[in-house]
Amino acid sequence: MRVKIDIIPLGIGNVYVIRDQGAILVDGGDTKKTKAFVKGLENISLKPEEIELIVITHGHFDHIGTAADIKKLTGAKLAMHEKEKACLEKGFMPLPPGFNLWGTVMVGVMKVFMLPFRTIPITNVDIVLDDNEFSLSNYGIPGKVIHTPGHSAGSVSVLLETGDVFIGDLAMNEFPWSFGPGFAAFGVSVGSVKASWSILLEKGAKMVYPAHGDPFPVSVIEEALDKD
Ligand SMILES: [Zn+2]
Ligand SMILES: [Zn+2]
Repeated sequence: MRVKIDIIPLGIGNVYVIRDQGAILVDGGDTKKTKAFVKGLENISLKPEEIELIVITHGHFDHIGTAADIKKLTGAKLAMHEKEKACLEKGFMPLPPGFNLWGTVMVGVMKVFMLPFRTIPITNVDIVLDDNEFSLSNYGIPGKVIHTPGHSAGSVSVLLETGDVFIGDLAMNEFPWSFGPGFAAFGVSVGSVKASWSILLEKGAKMVYPAHGDPFPVSVIEEALDKD
């Protein structure tokens, strides 16, 4: 069976369902999206309990907002990097600085119009990821989780053997967050974003699945890296 990839939009971000021998979820969506998640699973004929693992790409509110409920519904284990697990375990809502003027404006918009209206339901992280790769073979998925900092210090990506890569916010493809596919306009380090992309390219990334916007080929990133 070829790896099957489905998108479930949960508020301002997408979560991805990856299925092969097993089923895993990438990210936990914006806050208060439990109903949309249940509906999304129905649409793809997947029972909640079939999901065995939730990989959280990073600790921003739009990636962990419904994670506690999703964990409860599915009974899945939840994996998150050690540098960001406090966001979900304690309900922290950090935001990174902008990389440019547009990024600074967007972070300002989130601070004023989004954060005050959200709280993160907390839950425990079962699998604490570090800087080493984490194989997904025990979960029936041919791929691994790789530490890819830059957008945040504890950002991770899920890279499948097919070259499909789920990168959270290491790149974006949706206005107003970005103008077309490319690097996010905010994060903790441009240099780390580029270094993380170099690692993903070296390891065979081909198709990019961002949390914000549609998938795009990795050639877009190669061109952006070449420009520097
Ligand atoms: Zn983010
Ligand atoms: Zn995001």
